[in-house]
Amino acid sequence: MTDCIFCKIAQGEIPCRKVYEDDEFFAFHDINPAAPVHFMLIPKLHLASLAEAGEAHAALLGRMLVLAPRLAREQGLENGFRTVINTGKGGGQEVFHFHIHIIGGGNIPPMVRRS
Ligand code: 5GP
Ligand code: ZN
Repeated sequence: MTDCIFCKIAQGEIPCRKVYEDDEFFAFHDINPAAPVHFMLIPKLHLASLAEAGEAHAALLGRMLVLAPRLAREQGLENGFRTVINTGKGGGQEVFHFHIHIIGGGNIPPMVRRS
C-alpha cells in the first residue's frame, strides 16, 4: 500500500527504531511510548485492521501471536507484557495497518477501570 506509514516503515522508507524483522513480520518501537518498553509488531502484508482479517490470514495471525512473547522477552519483559490491538475508529485505531502493541516494563494499570 503506497500511502501507509507502517508499510513505509517496514520497507525502510521511513526511519524507525527496529526491534525485529523476518520475511513476514517487522517490529519497531512506538514513537510515543506508553511505557518504558512499547513496540509494535506488524505483518509486512498490508492488512488494514483485524476487522479485515479472514480465514486466509489465520496462519499468519497465529505465527504473529507466537512471535510476540519471544520478542517481548528479548526486550527484557520477562515478567509479562500487555498486548493491545485497536480495531477501527471505534477501537481507537489511528494507523490502518494491522499491528499489535507490546507494552511493559513499568507500572501497567488495569486496562478497564471498574467503579
Ligand atoms: P493505533 O492507535 O493505531 O493502535 O496505534 C498507532 C501507534 O503508532 C501509536 O501508538 C503511535 O504513537 C504510533 N506511530 C504513529 N506514527 C508513527 C511513526 O511514524 N513511527 C513510529 N515508530 N510510531 C508511530
Ligand atoms: Zn500498510
